[in-house]
Amino acid sequence: MYTIETENLTKYYGNTRGIENVNLTIKEGEIFGFIGPNGAGKSTTIRTLLNLIFPTSGKATVLGLDIIQDSRKIKQYIGYLPAEVGYYDDMTVRELLEYSARFYDSKEHRISELSERFDLDLSRKIEDLSLGNKKKVGIVQALLHKPKLLILDEPTSGLDPLMQKTFFEILKAENKQGTTIFFSSHNLSEVQKLCHRVGIIKNGTILQVEEMEALRSRLFKKIRISGEIHDLDLKGILHVETKDNGTQEFLFNGDINQLIQKLSKTQIDNLWIEEPTLEEVFIHYYEKEEDQHEHN
Ligand code: ADP
Repeated sequence: MYTIETENLTKYYGNTRGIENVNLTIKEGEIFGFIGPNGAGKSTTIRTLLNLIFPTSGKATVLGLDIIQDSRKIKQYIGYLPAEVGYYDDMTVRELLEYSARFYDSKEHRISELSERFDLDLSRKIEDLSLGNKKKVGIVQALLHKPKLLILDEPTSGLDPLMQKTFFEILKAENKQGTTIFFSSHNLSEVQKLCHRVGIIKNGTILQVEEMEALRSRLFKKIRISGEIHDLDLKGILHVETKDNGTQEFLFNGDINQLIQKLSKTQIDNLWIEEPTLEEVFIHYYEKEEDQHEHN
């Protein structure tokens, strides 16, 4: 049984396409990154899974339960952080979390444990919190009942880098204890730190689903060279840029031995070979897509 399984899930808002024929399977125990630019259909997918909006066609199950028929039951087992958190502003953090905890059967409230880990002041009023801190409250709220599945919509937007790091550590710890995690992001370098698999969505359609490792290794190396370099005419070189300080940068998916041989005949000062960030991988992927459309 898959933790999430969608079958041609489609949602139109009137004539506007939200998502179209989305087929996804999320396995128990994995951290799945759902990535794509703004407007790609991430929230629509998530909100459909949570039965906050109805699909136009297609179907889906969460923990083996039907997203429409069994939605109440599903909510007992999942934690959800919406993209935009809105709260009763005049409550304190403690009041809000205690109020939320009452909705679940779970006895383990974990309010103080989680607040400590997130360095959250329980006595503060919600209205006095920064966006980042409001997000933290939302995350704690989603984790209160030790959900089997966590669904997080753009969880890290609004978090400073330090908080993001803490947040990822907590997610990893939750995942180690068996919680499956499905989270969306438009920030790919983030996803890369955490996910086992990624699904790429654009214009409401899934472009690709891939193991994180495979995606990274199959694609490009990022090469930077400083020195006197001329005529690096080699298959697999893309996006050559010469920086102000004379350093050349490019993406490379050819034979690395050939590149080294070429370079051995020139005088270089320094050489860097790096893994590209997912942004770079992703941008290239999109360009390929668009090229194909142009040629068709
Ligand atoms: P993402 O979460 O990836 O940013 P969304 O799922 O919010 O993308 O949006 C997917 C598409 O659906 C976009 O074209 C968006 O404009 C449209 N859309 C989303 N919500 C609504 C809505 N309530 N009414 C009309 N169109 C919507």
